[in-house]
Amino acid sequence: MSPTTARVYNFSSGPAVMPVPVLEQIQRDLVTLPGVGMSILEVSHRSKVFEDVIEQAEADIRALANIPANYKVLFLQGGASLQFSMVPLNILTAGTTADYIVTGSWTDKAAKEARRVGSVNVAATTEGDKFCRIPSQGELTLTANAAYVHITSNNTIEGTQWHTLPDVGAVPLVSDASSDLFCRPIDIARYGLIYAGAQKNLGPSGATLVIIREDLLARSTKSLHTMLNYAVHAENASLYNTPPCFAIYTLGLVMRWLRDRGGLVEVGTVNQRKAGKLYAELDRTGYWRPTARTQDRSLMNVTFRLATEGLESKFVKESTSAGFDGLKGHRSVGGMRASIYNAFPEEGVDALVEFMREFERKNG
Ligand SMILES: *Cc1c(COP(=O)(O)O)cnc(C)c1O
Repeated sequence: MSPTTARVYNFSSGPAVMPVPVLEQIQRDLVTLPGVGMSILEVSHRSKVFEDVIEQAEADIRALANIPANYKVLFLQGGASLQFSMVPLNILTAGTTADYIVTGSWTDKAAKEARRVGSVNVAATTEGDKFCRIPSQGELTLTANAAYVHITSNNTIEGTQWHTLPDVGAVPLVSDASSDLFCRPIDIARYGLIYAGAQKNLGPSGATLVIIREDLLARSTKSLHTMLNYAVHAENASLYNTPPCFAIYTLGLVMRWLRDRGGLVEVGTVNQRKAGKLYAELDRTGYWRPTARTQDRSLMNVTFRLATEGLESKFVKESTSAGFDGLKGHRSVGGMRASIYNAFPEEGVDALVEFMREFERKNG
């Protein structure tokens, strides 16, 4: 078997499946980057070679998402979890309040870090419904002149996604888009700040993408620790210190792959089709129990249960033996979860649907 045909269907929530052509290019160019005589793991981050890599990655991101000129694109470290702190440290200015719309355990964690910095208002929470849904506009208790409103655009663990953004007026909208950034077209101008750990939908772990509107950089005070200061990273074009060079290089290749596939409109169409096939199977007979409210279902993380935990462990075990990896749900919620990010192949969804039908036939 070639390395490619030996691959399993990887439904992991993150780190997650990568595009095979990207892996093949990394493999091909690893020992020497063409014309460089060194690998990407060995070049200085101050070299022209790396400057080209990071500039190309940024250019591809800007083209892909049509990012307006008044936004900075930053490549940081520390994962989305460090952004839980950096966001309030930089833009929750003294004497103001930040609104958090709590739709899952990741927003809960983000709000917890913000409370260490300043005043936080929970503008809504769907915890009472086990986070199976996204709140409506009418449920939001927004603070007038809030420093920002924070959402988690896709709730990786609970399997819900914002399909219509909340109306927050002139207040900057901040989104943790770790598990759905670039899964479809995005109107960047609706946001003040977007962040995403790369290891779900963008590339490998180690890099964190931050897209921030320039006027917000003025809120970063000089007294902040240097490495936690967005303005410092922006002034230094993400090269204040040694960045995660390999992760940025790889993320760049993934962005190029997305562009080659036709960009976010095309990618969004494929993602709709993939998720649609899986939800259709989940709804087909009533045997499966999808957990998210229908209109809030995620295109990226499809969560479902079975009648008993015994059946669920049987499903996880048998699916793993059949070459479907990572279908066990998050330990905090149980059940099953199929993460089907951009790089997850459509034939893997078809194969899972086939497997589910067979499982239902045998265990119905
Ligand atoms: C995975 C995830 C995180 C945590 O990301 P790290 O990079 O591990 O810090 C935060 N938010 C969301 C929505 C996630 O899916």
